[in-house]
Amino acid sequence: MNNFQLTTTQMLERAEKYFSQKEVVSRTDLKVHRLTYKEVGQRCRSLSDSLEALGIKKGDRIGTLGWNHHRHLEAYFAVPNMNAVLHTINFRLPQEHLIYVINDAEDKVLLIDAQFIGLIEAIKDEIPSVQHVILMTDEENIPETSLPSVYLYESLIEQGDPTYQYPENIQENDPAGMCYTSATTGKPKGVVYTHRSTFLHSMALGLAETTGVQEEDVSLPLVPMFHVNAWGFPYAATWFGTKQVLPGPNVTPQLILELIEQEKVTMSAGVPTIWLGVAQALEQGNYDTSSLKAVICGGSAAPKSLIALYEDRFNIPFIHAYGMTETSPVATLSRPLSKHKELSREEQLDIKATQGRVVPGLEVRIINENGEVPADGETMGELTIRGPWITDQYYNAPDKTAESVKDGWLYTGDIATIDEDGFIQVVDRTKDLVKSGGEWISTVALENGLMAHEAVAEASVIGIPHEKWQERPLGVVVLKEGADVTKEELFEFITPMFVKWWLPDDIVFVNEIPKTSVGKFLKRALRDELSDYYLQEQ
Ligand code: ADP
Repeated sequence: MNNFQLTTTQMLERAEKYFSQKEVVSRTDLKVHRLTYKEVGQRCRSLSDSLEALGIKKGDRIGTLGWNHHRHLEAYFAVPNMNAVLHTINFRLPQEHLIYVINDAEDKVLLIDAQFIGLIEAIKDEIPSVQHVILMTDEENIPETSLPSVYLYESLIEQGDPTYQYPENIQENDPAGMCYTSATTGKPKGVVYTHRSTFLHSMALGLAETTGVQEEDVSLPLVPMFHVNAWGFPYAATWFGTKQVLPGPNVTPQLILELIEQEKVTMSAGVPTIWLGVAQALEQGNYDTSSLKAVICGGSAAPKSLIALYEDRFNIPFIHAYGMTETSPVATLSRPLSKHKELSREEQLDIKATQGRVVPGLEVRIINENGEVPADGETMGELTIRGPWITDQYYNAPDKTAESVKDGWLYTGDIATIDEDGFIQVVDRTKDLVKSGGEWISTVALENGLMAHEAVAEASVIGIPHEKWQERPLGVVVLKEGADVTKEELFEFITPMFVKWWLPDDIVFVNEIPKTSVGKFLKRALRDELSDYYLQEQ
C-alpha cells in the first residue's frame, strides 16, 4: 500500500475542495462572522504565507491565546500545514505558569485576542523567545501598547497569498500541535501532538460508535480551543465538511441555547459544569433544542441524574466521554450496546453514566498491585492506555515521563473498574480518592448521589484528615437558586445508595465550588479552604 503520510493538510484541502460553500459561523466580541470553507481555506493560506514572511520555519512554535472563533480555527490549520507547531495556551493560567509554558515551548510568535494584550504586556520581558505578537481582532487599528512588534491579524491576511501552497514533504510524525496540562500541582506538563495522531484521532471522532460527527451535523464546541484542541472537533468537523459554530468570548448558558436554536446545532461538547448550567437555563426558559442529536460531556464524571435530565426530560441524547490532554483527548465513550436495549431505563442510565468503552484504535488495561484486574466491574486499579493518539512522553520532562509512561503504557492516575463488555467506570483520581481506614471511597460516586437531589445544583466531596480513619469524606453542596433542603434531608436521600461507612461525615453548604480554568471542580482549593476551617469548627 501507499506509504501516504497522514497530515492535517489533507483535512483542510478536502474541506476546500468538496465543502467550499459550507459555513463556519464565528462570534467575536464585536460581531458574528459567517465564512465559507473556501474563505477559511484562503485565509489559512494567507496566514501561513505571512507567518513565513515573519521568519517562521519548520518546527517553530506559534502560541495562541484565544477564545473559540474562526481566526483560532484558521491557526489550527495554517500553522501545522506549514510544518510549524500550534501551541494553544490556556489564557486563564496563573502568570507564572503562562511564562513557564511560553518559555518551555519557546514560542516565536503569539496569536492573541486583543483582550489579552495586558496579560502579555505584563510578562513581555520574561518571554525572550517571542518575536512578534499578532492580534486576532476585528479592530482596524493597533491599540496603544508597550509590546514591540505587533501586527493585526487581518492585515496579515490581506498581505498574504491566498493561493500559498503547503509543503508536500511533511512527515506524519512531525509535531503539529502542543498543549500543556492545567497542572493542579507543580508545573504544567507539555504534550506534543503529531500530524499522524491528529489525523487518526479526528478519524476516530467520525466513527458511528464514537461521536459520529459528519457532514450533515452542525458542531458547537463549548470546550475551549486552548484545551486539547477543543477535543478535536475543529479538525474533524473541517475534514468532514461539518458546519461549525464557534461561540467566541463570554459564553453563557443562555447564549449557548440561543446558538443551538438559531444555528440548528446538532452536536455540542463541554464539561459537566457547562451542561449543569445549560440544564438550569433550560428549566427556566423556552428554547427549541430539537435539532440536537447529541451533547457530549467529559472532562470530569457526568452524574447519572444529569444524563437522565437531558434524555428523559429535555429529550436530548447525552453521551459521556473520558479523556485527558495526554490522550488527544477522546479515549473512551459510553454508548450502550445492542443487548442493552432490553434493560430497564435505570439500568441503561447506569451504563450511560460509565465512562464507556475504549475507542477503536486504543487499548486499555487496569492495573493494581496484583497485575491486570479481572473484568468484573468491581476490582479497582489504575487505568492505563496506549495507542496512536496517546502520548509516550512529556515535552522536555524525562522525569515526568518516567513517572507516567511505563513499557509503552500511559498511567492515567485515574482509578477505575472494567466489566466484561469493556465498560470502564472511573472511580476517582488517585489524589482525590478518600482513603478511609485502608479502604477507598469514591468521591465521584458520592457527588453523583448528592447531585441527584433536585435541590442540589453542584456537589463536591473531599477527604478531610481524621485521627482514627486517616481520612473521611465531607460533602460540599451548592443549592439551586431558590431551593431549600436541610443536611438531614440530604443524608436521608443518599443513605440508601451507599454502604454506611461511605457516607460523608458531614455536609456543608457553600455559595460556590471553586473551579479549574477549564470548569472542573477544583478539589485542591476546596480541601485547602474547607478542611482547615471545618476541623477548627469541630
Ligand atoms: P487536567 O489534568 O488539567 O484536569 P485534563 O483535561 O487532561 O486536564 O484532565 C484529564 C483528567 O480528567 C482525567 O485524568 C480524569 O481524571 C478526568 N476526566 C476526564 N474525563 C472524565 C470523565 N468522563 N469522568 C471522570 N473523570 C474524567
